[in-house]
Amino acid sequence: MDLSKFLVQPNTKVKLSDFPSDYTCKYKSKDEAQGKLIDNIAEMADLQDKLYADDRWALLLIFQALDAAGKDGAIKHVMSGLNPQGTMVYSFKQPSAEEIDHDYLWRINKSLPERGRIGIFNRSHYEDVLVVRVHNLIKSLKMPKSLLNDNIWDVRHREIRDFEKYLSENGIVTVKFFLNLSKDEQKRRFLKRIEDPSKNWKFSASDLKERQFFKQYQKCYEEVISETSTKYSAWYIIPADKKWFARLVISEVIVSVLKSLNLSYPKLSQEQIDNLKVYKEQLLNEK
Ligand code: AMP
Ligand code: MG
Repeated sequence: MDLSKFLVQPNTKVKLSDFPSDYTCKYKSKDEAQGKLIDNIAEMADLQDKLYADDRWALLLIFQALDAAGKDGAIKHVMSGLNPQGTMVYSFKQPSAEEIDHDYLWRINKSLPERGRIGIFNRSHYEDVLVVRVHNLIKSLKMPKSLLNDNIWDVRHREIRDFEKYLSENGIVTVKFFLNLSKDEQKRRFLKRIEDPSKNWKFSASDLKERQFFKQYQKCYEEVISETSTKYSAWYIIPADKKWFARLVISEVIVSVLKSLNLSYPKLSQEQIDNLKVYKEQLLNEK
């Protein structure tokens, strides 16, 4: 699959209307895409095993989206083949009192994946330039008043670029997914959550309140993605109206990023290989 369709090149101005949320490439149905997704999940598992054994790189996958875009489902399905020991998932909610008492990257830093691991962020530091901006929550944070200038969002975009560059220079590869959902499809999914008893728990009245800000969020996402898609930490805009296609593209991206690291199992020195022969002899000659 040609992933450049979804990748946001650095220094480009993103218009979400250029990224159709119902695009499905050559695939016409979930069944058609299923085989490829299964192959990708198996390949991811194989690459993760090497990532873990190599123990140098870490991969950080960041999922951002509006409500009901399918973040949880994408994480559940795409990661289903991974070894839980090498995977860490964090969901970032409204900051706690302790988190508010720190800079906004504090909780992010604490949750970064260890080397050899895949870290998954369900929401992230991007909430601090999205929900915080759309709802003007910054005033209720404990920032010194003199630092709350009009250019606070430019400052934060720059901080985020710097932070992600720092991560890349330390072997933590970040990949960012924006699940791009249409307003109509969001409505359908909310209705399903209300109608299907097994999905009722997923619906909250605040989802409807947030829906009223759909346009503002989209505008904000356009700016954030334009400002923070860089060559060391790229954004992918994933068509999310069809869950099965979103999952397929996400799996394709993850496989391609892991492949680009040229991972291999650690090579033993001649001395270590000789030692293995001795240990084998010892085991075989056990009485
Ligand atoms: P959910 O992911 O549906 O469980 O919801 C988590 C909620 O926490 C969402 O409404 C987010 O917008 C909100 N949230 C996450 N991070 C922040 C933040 N830094 N400031 C304010 N709200 C946040
Ligand atoms: Mg929610």
